[in-house]
Amino acid sequence: MIIGILKEPVGESRVALLPDSVKNLISWGVSVLVEYGAGAKSYSPDPLYQEAGAEMKSRLEILQASDMVLAINPPSLEEVGRMKPEAVFLGQFNALFNQEFTQYLIQNQRTAFSMELVPRTTRAQSMDVLSSMATVIGYKAVLMAANLLPRFFPMFMTAAGSISPARVLILGAGVAGLQAIATSRRLGATVFAFDVRAAAKEEVLSLGAKFVEVEGAKEDKGAGGYAVEQDEDFLNRQKEAIHEQASKSDIIITTAQIPGRKAPLLVEERTVLAMKPGSVIIDLAASSGGNCALTQPAQTVEVNGVRVVGVDNLAGTLPQDASKMYGKNYLNFLKLIIKDGQLNLNFEDDIVAGTCVCHQGEAVSPRIAQLINT
Ligand code: NAD
Repeated sequence: MIIGILKEPVGESRVALLPDSVKNLISWGVSVLVEYGAGAKSYSPDPLYQEAGAEMKSRLEILQASDMVLAINPPSLEEVGRMKPEAVFLGQFNALFNQEFTQYLIQNQRTAFSMELVPRTTRAQSMDVLSSMATVIGYKAVLMAANLLPRFFPMFMTAAGSISPARVLILGAGVAGLQAIATSRRLGATVFAFDVRAAAKEEVLSLGAKFVEVEGAKEDKGAGGYAVEQDEDFLNRQKEAIHEQASKSDIIITTAQIPGRKAPLLVEERTVLAMKPGSVIIDLAASSGGNCALTQPAQTVEVNGVRVVGVDNLAGTLPQDASKMYGKNYLNFLKLIIKDGQLNLNFEDDIVAGTCVCHQGEAVSPRIAQLINT
């Protein structure tokens, strides 16, 4: 079996598999082709892939020769058309939203897996690219805020007087939010956090942050551990609580998301205006509409001395470790679909079925099947 690894597009610094992961894959009895320059932006030049046992090839050679093509971002539709009809594509192409790509795969009888569909179960944790990237993003958001803040994070007692610690408010305590809390605490900030899921409170407290309470949040056990949309009354009380905290905060990092929905608006314009000049808001939900009313995707807006950063592909700013985590997640998933060096698709396995967008043109993931039948 031949597995090809594509170079990512301009603007993406990660790669699906670093040389160490390629070496591991080759030990399973498969051949690996890697596109020239695929690891360059992750500081893994071609000779490292060759030492790991891979052959370097052009993009077209890889598309035409591979039984399985791996990438993070998807190739163009035209490039998919150049792959062998029975070849499998594995990437992270946001299949529920990138409907043009999903429809093309189905109409052209292709087989494809999209890693954001990996079920969020205990057994699938080692394959969960969303958690891996959220870890990178939560960490990097704090460093970004610390760089922009005109103050220290930790408390200092110096001969020139004492400096009080920075006060950080984290909205949404999922994977990225918890990492942001832990990183802010390591830098010495006083941290407050908020989430609508009651289970998040204990995790927030265990990381040494304080939990901001707003009574009456709606939860749904059927949502698989995710948050659900809140009613207007709750959202209004929540905005009030955030407004009160925000005026005392130096930094707000927002991470609140609801799968398949626009991100909830939590920080109103009046709240930004109530913050001290020099304060910083990092909005990690910018690509799904933003948690702050003033957020512009991939831009920094300054109002009254408060900078609002609409974050875009923060995972790409840590390409070595982000690619390392990505590769490990991919290898753990590939163990389920490769046996004795050959492709072995067992759709009885809920992780394989849940991640498979389509097999030979048939939608397999229940979420994709539901989408195309509505
Ligand atoms: P996410 O990116 O979908 O959302 C981020 C956070 O925003 C969540 O904690 C959510 O509750 C919160 N949020 C949504 N609306 C909000 C609002 N109005 N106000 C404040 N907060 C709001 O979440 P995620 O980080 O992907 O994780 C979601 C859940 O999935 C967590 O319970 C996490 O522990 C669980 N999880 C499980 C696994 C696994 O078992 N494999 C892996 C990852 C995450």
